Amino acid sequence: MSGPDPHRPKEVRLVGRNALGVDWQDHHGSIFPFEYLRSACPCRACREPRVRGGAEAWPAEITREEGGLRIRWRDGHESVFGGRQLRELCRCVLCTGGR
Ligand SMILES: [Zn+2]
Ligand SMILES: [Zn+2]
Repeated sequence: MSGPDPHRPKEVRLVGRNALGVDWQDHHGSIFPFEYLRSACPCRACREPRVRGGAEAWPAEITREEGGLRIRWRDGHESVFGGRQLRELCRCVLCTGGR
C-alpha cells in the first residue's frame, strides 16, 4: 500500500435525491446519477439490448465492496462496479477532456 489509488473510492455519499457521489483517493470527485449507473451496469443481462430501458433506476441498497461498489436496485437487480470501472464512467470535464 503506497500513495492514493485513483481507482479506489474514498467516500461514497448521496448527492441530492437521485445521484451518487464518489470521492476518490486522489481527491477527484465524481457524481453519478442513478439512472446513468443503472444503464451502465456491466453485468451480462444488462448488456443485452432488449432488457435495457425502463429498468428500475432506484437503489435499494448501496454497499461498499473491496475497491468498488455494489448497488442493489428496487427491482432486485444487482450491479457490481469495480473501482476502475466506476472511475471510467466519470463524465466530468476533467475525465472527458472537456468534450
Ligand atoms: Zn445488470
Ligand atoms: Zn471525473
